[in-house]
Amino acid sequence: MSIYNCPACGKKGFNPYTKGMAGKMNSKGRPCKYCGRLCVNGKGATIFNAIFSLIIFACFILLFLFAQSYTFLAIREVPLYLLMLLAEFLVPKLVNAFFFRMTESIRLDI
Ligand SMILES: [Zn+2]
Repeated sequence: MSIYNCPACGKKGFNPYTKGMAGKMNSKGRPCKYCGRLCVNGKGATIFNAIFSLIIFACFILLFLFAQSYTFLAIREVPLYLLMLLAEFLVPKLVNAFFFRMTESIRLDI
């Protein structure tokens, strides 16, 4: 079974783009092409996203603390912050698009 198969109906209802955009377990999710059930990226993706956010957060703090002490960091401080923001936004989506299984959305407010 491919990671793009819908967990509800078992058909290949997603592609890398829709899967990447489906978000993690606390998101609203994306409807399956075939059955319309809302699906999100499962536990693996949610745990990865959480760990990744923590790492980015730690890098932010480290850079903030040490940037002024090292010239090679100080001259790149702003681009590095921007890069980290971009990574925080893009990497989880990319990883969700190509890894981890999907699961049905458990949010009930639909
Ligand atoms: Zn489906």
